[in-house]
Amino acid sequence: MASPRQMTSLNGTEKDSDKTHFMNDVPKQLPEGILDVDATELHRFVDNHTLVHLKGQIERPLFVSILQHGDETTGWDAMKLLLLNHQNKLPRSIYLLFGNVQAARINSRQLDDQPDFNRCWPGIHNQQNEVAKTMQEITDLMARIKPFASVDIHNNSGRNPHYAGINSLQTPFVNLASLFSDTIIHFTSPDGIQSGAFARFCPSVTIECGMSGTADGIEQTHTFLENLIHLPSLKSVPGVAEHRQVLNIFSTVKVKPEVSIGIQGEVTHPVNFIINDDLDYHNFHLLESGTEFGRLDHEDTIMPFVVTDQIGHDITDHYFEKRGTSVCIKQPVIPAMITQSIRAIRLDCLCYLMHPMNPNHP
Ligand SMILES: [Zn+2]
Repeated sequence: MASPRQMTSLNGTEKDSDKTHFMNDVPKQLPEGILDVDATELHRFVDNHTLVHLKGQIERPLFVSILQHGDETTGWDAMKLLLLNHQNKLPRSIYLLFGNVQAARINSRQLDDQPDFNRCWPGIHNQQNEVAKTMQEITDLMARIKPFASVDIHNNSGRNPHYAGINSLQTPFVNLASLFSDTIIHFTSPDGIQSGAFARFCPSVTIECGMSGTADGIEQTHTFLENLIHLPSLKSVPGVAEHRQVLNIFSTVKVKPEVSIGIQGEVTHPVNFIINDDLDYHNFHLLESGTEFGRLDHEDTIMPFVVTDQIGHDITDHYFEKRGTSVCIKQPVIPAMITQSIRAIRLDCLCYLMHPMNPNHP
């Protein structure tokens, strides 16, 4: 089997660390044996941010991004099935981007010294780190190539329906999302995400395929990719329009860093705020006011959440209130991506809040 170094010589660059030039000659094939391995072994074959151009019958490519978060393996599992199905010739070309294969090695979202890859893409406030530089180069390259569509594949750490996220309500975006799921969310933050960067030049979607590695998520993702590489156009997709529901993400719920937290039933020492067990069952359900998210250690403990809208305004008081030691929803709202992972809560957020919207009348 080919080592990363052998593959690097294939693409004409001189050394593995020569990342800034790797896209001048994007490799046209995957290293031998790579389709036999799990995400934890990919680091033996490719580096972080390796882009591969797999030629197909239709030249205009589908762009697929996997493993931006190293513990979200459904993208690789589904891509393996797709590529094994089309060993001779793909119906459509694919640019496949490997994300954080180093973090995938230890089944972690990211390594301690790494930024979140999916916050480093060109956006409103561009980050100034090596990852962001690489993301800028990949974006510039793909903007010239103008893919047919862009798909970024993720998993959730909490229980969620499989859903698609889009940054634009233009028809090709909604059609692309509809091919994956009837549950579609529209969002314009966080800044620096892949589908947001690519939305400037092609229909792009972030798909969330449930918990990492589950069979139904892999199957749904594989079917979606199969459909996409056979599809001639995203301008009209028969039979999908009537079911779809678009939800608009309007805010992010974070836990204040100074508030110590734990999950009900898991805490072994006193904390300021205990998050209700099974809170993630609320994902994508309309919650009534009074629905409890958790309990404080004391009535005088501060509100543990900060809710911010898309432009960063603090709107916590509109959506949460303390009732004694109970922290409750203040007005009806639909949460998404509630996670029960303390690490994910600290690194990212507890959840997002959404309202329904009509895609035809945004
Ligand atoms: Zn992710």
